Amino acid sequence: MALDISPTVHPESADLVASVFDAVDGVLAACPRSLYLQRSRQKEHAPELWDAIVAADLLAIGIPEERGGAGGGLTGCVAVMESLSRVGIPPLQYSLTTFSREAILRYGTEQQITDHVLTTMTGERRFCLGVTEPDAGTNSFAARTTATRSSSGGYRISGQKVYISAADESDHILLLARTAGPGEPVGRRQGFGVFVVDLSLPGIELRRLDVEWHAPEYQFEVFFDDVEVPAEALIGEEGLGFDHMLSVLNQERVVVAAWALGLGEYALQKAVDYAKTRAPFGRPIGSFQGVQHPLALAKAEMEAARQVMYSAAAEYDSGRDAGAKANMAKLLGARAALAAVDAAIQTHGGSAFVYETDVVTLWPMIRVLQIAPINNESVLNYLGERLLGLPRS
Ligand SMILES: Cc1cc2nc3c(=O)[nH]c(=O)nc-3n(C[C@H](O)[C@H](O)[C@H](O)COP(=O)(O)OP(=O)(O)OC[C@H]3O[C@@H](n4cnc5c(N)ncnc54)[C@H](O)[C@@H]3O)c2cc1C
Repeated sequence: MALDISPTVHPESADLVASVFDAVDGVLAACPRSLYLQRSRQKEHAPELWDAIVAADLLAIGIPEERGGAGGGLTGCVAVMESLSRVGIPPLQYSLTTFSREAILRYGTEQQITDHVLTTMTGERRFCLGVTEPDAGTNSFAARTTATRSSSGGYRISGQKVYISAADESDHILLLARTAGPGEPVGRRQGFGVFVVDLSLPGIELRRLDVEWHAPEYQFEVFFDDVEVPAEALIGEEGLGFDHMLSVLNQERVVVAAWALGLGEYALQKAVDYAKTRAPFGRPIGSFQGVQHPLALAKAEMEAARQVMYSAAAEYDSGRDAGAKANMAKLLGARAALAAVDAAIQTHGGSAFVYETDVVTLWPMIRVLQIAPINNESVLNYLGERLLGLPRS
């Protein structure tokens, strides 16, 4: 499929985005969509995807040049996600690793950056992200996993996280845990810490969930039973972990927009190809405006969302508060892509539901992206309250 670089990409990012898109051919050759799907159907991993991303040096993007990375910031990471998603191979572990290491780049010590960030460039270090808990769900303020000071100066962690993607393929988890003891007088956002935890430590157990979403990465419940971690596992300041994590989550929202929009483009291209040839009435169904218009509308809405996405990335890279645009990008990208996948299913008729056609296979993932990593309603809450100044519900 042609990887056109839309002229609507932010002008100053166009060269960067184009060079990332060029690198995608090698990754696609190593892990085509057919392999990605086959592995997910067999409940296996696709190590070819991660290895090819490492080989193409795509993990160096987003790490500053002065630290030996390739620079490019969030804009570069968004381009990686969008370009791979457009060819049907959205790399979840890539996205988890890039936003986990962002928290360490921002708040970690030099030693933590050397140990946990620079090592991601060679693929040696891979992260999963541990925020969601069974009872707290969207309300992360209610998280109950605790990290209490131990007599040796480190922390002891106990609790449970859920839906943790790629926990079995990651060596470390970036974990949000409560550091303030019960009854301590702290504000809603205070009393948390962000920890880098080695997943091979004693006391950690993973249980795989059977999640239907057609990807070769899987979700896990992760249990922490009095896990001892050293003091250096804490990233940034004890008590401010929630704020540290929020700055990473803004990046996550923009990368997730790229993931959704890439998948939407993949679906749209399939629909257009099909509509040009399928002709039950003697001429292509693509000539019927009832078929054409939803596809044209999806294209227009995805391009609009893409503008907001690259604008959010540019704002983030310039050091400004990108909260509002990052949230808008996630919301608009997820919704526009959902409409594109839905239109692709309708265009394909019955054939959409044949596994090999690979159209209905896009539906669970694009549906998940309306809920995870943040549901669209919570994005609207944010925009209503922060942007419009409306009262909290
Ligand atoms: C495939 C997959 C991968 C995931 N990977 C990870 C991961 O790697 N790490 C991680 O930490 N988590 C991960 N998650 C968890 C994901 O972030 C949560 O599912 C999501 O945050 C929603 O939490 P919940 O499922 O508990 O829904 P709930 O909090 O129970 O919410 C249910 C529904 O209620 C509505 N709702 C909730 N809150 C509000 C509100 N304030 N206002 C209006 N409506 C609201 C929404 O429609 C929402 O979908 C993953 C989930 C899935 C499905």
